[in-house]
Amino acid sequence: MSSSTDTRTSIVWDYAPAPESADHIRLSDRYGLFLDGEFKDPQDGRYEPTINPATEQPIAEVAWAGRQDIEAAVRSAREAQPKWAALKDLERAKYLFRIARLIQERSRELAVVETLDGGKPLRESRDVDIPLAAAHFFHYAGWADKLRYGVNAREVAPLGVVGQIVPWNFPLLMAAWKLAPALACGNTAILKPAETTPLTALLLAEIAQEAELPPGVISILPGNGETGAALVRQKKINKIAFTGSTAVGRDIQAALAGSEVRLTLELGGKSANIVFEDAALDQAVEGIVNGIFFNQGHVCCAGSRLLIQESVHDEVIGKLWQRMRRLRVGDPLDKNTDVGAINSAEQLERIEVLVAAGEEEGATRRTIECEMPDRGYWFAPTLFTDVSPAHRIAVEEIFGPVVSVLTFRTQAEAIEKANNSRYGLAAGIWTDKGAKAFEVASALQAGVVWQNTYNHFDPTAAFGGYKESGFGREGGPAGLRPYVRIVS
Ligand code: NAD
Repeated sequence: MSSSTDTRTSIVWDYAPAPESADHIRLSDRYGLFLDGEFKDPQDGRYEPTINPATEQPIAEVAWAGRQDIEAAVRSAREAQPKWAALKDLERAKYLFRIARLIQERSRELAVVETLDGGKPLRESRDVDIPLAAAHFFHYAGWADKLRYGVNAREVAPLGVVGQIVPWNFPLLMAAWKLAPALACGNTAILKPAETTPLTALLLAEIAQEAELPPGVISILPGNGETGAALVRQKKINKIAFTGSTAVGRDIQAALAGSEVRLTLELGGKSANIVFEDAALDQAVEGIVNGIFFNQGHVCCAGSRLLIQESVHDEVIGKLWQRMRRLRVGDPLDKNTDVGAINSAEQLERIEVLVAAGEEEGATRRTIECEMPDRGYWFAPTLFTDVSPAHRIAVEEIFGPVVSVLTFRTQAEAIEKANNSRYGLAAGIWTDKGAKAFEVASALQAGVVWQNTYNHFDPTAAFGGYKESGFGREGGPAGLRPYVRIVS
């Protein structure tokens, strides 16, 4: 590196704290289940605290649904469904539009609550999660009266009652991905948020009330895996849409095998981010950082396998390490924070186990030095080089701020290595050559391929996986198909 670059990059910026105020948020001490258009106590009276992972302090108590609550929600959703489906398409669209507007109106509050409950930096909840959640409701509001054009000009009918189970990494956004298309198509929905991040889904229930959504159209039933498993096994549900780990997806698929219940699965990933020697390397480094450190790497499509062409390996690693050392880890509510808290003690342990395996198997570990808060769950951004394709850190989903670097010499080898995974969710290609990007993209077994960018989401674009990353698509017109049956 030249001395002039050294001088420039050696400037140390001293950031003053810039915490977002949490004074404006209106959280209750306790939230019931959202059922029949109202918040209700669970039948067995079970309430559990939801914790701020950055402080380990409880934020509120949340009801967990049991079997009887699920049955009550299904009865309510069944009763509501024919009336909801019989509404004029444009009327259903108006409700979705209203929900989108109310999300926008309450966006500041929703962003702070998402950050408190999940640990993600406020900058991300404010600029990505909440605006995209609103955009999904707007997008599907637009489709509600044009359904047949979204499915090859066929006549369609709703499926009925759908059960939807979401993970903790994008709580409100995943809820929006699921609810908006389901409702647009005339279904009623029962949503189970993840156990560690139920709050924004419960605020969405308040929004549904404010939007005067008819009772039973949406039910929100927080709970843990047992609640999810009971929802899946409820006989009167017509479809299950699940986003989460491949292990749980497999369990759900086995439980529903041979039944008439439709199923879509959005599962894990180990996505390849491929940097060719002709790429704009500084831009690629930004993409690598965004690909793996966005949301602490708690991203199903994270670019966790970094494939670098051998000729530029040292240069890219040098630039990447420089950039990583400037990442700010800490208070998620601080507007300057790049990497927030790990979502839970369990997830932190999973990351630590896999990182230890990386070291034991002989990869070279570099973790940035930074001051961590005393309480809460934290993991500093970490880079592994000298990784072999058989190492656990190259194969298994870490779901944390850890990137594993592999190298390649030729385009064919890059494709082979990228596809050498049981997953197939996403990939990134960094190259100056358009033709090469298209050639590589069409050879990759990945549901989403980004060129010279990464982690770019839009409600108009379909998202979903190949292989053990699941099946079914969410987003865009393709996202309507899993919620309708073709009538003629
Ligand atoms: P998880 O599978 O443990 O849990 C996901 C949801 O399923 C939670 O609501 C949980 O309570 C529920 N659940 C747990 N056991 C269940 C069971 N037996 N039956 C029914 N429901 C059950 O996953 P997680 O740890 O919350 O989330 C991380 C995983 O989600 C990662 O593997 C990630 O890649 C994946 N993910 C995928 C996408 C995608 O679109 N493909 C998006 C986000 C996250």
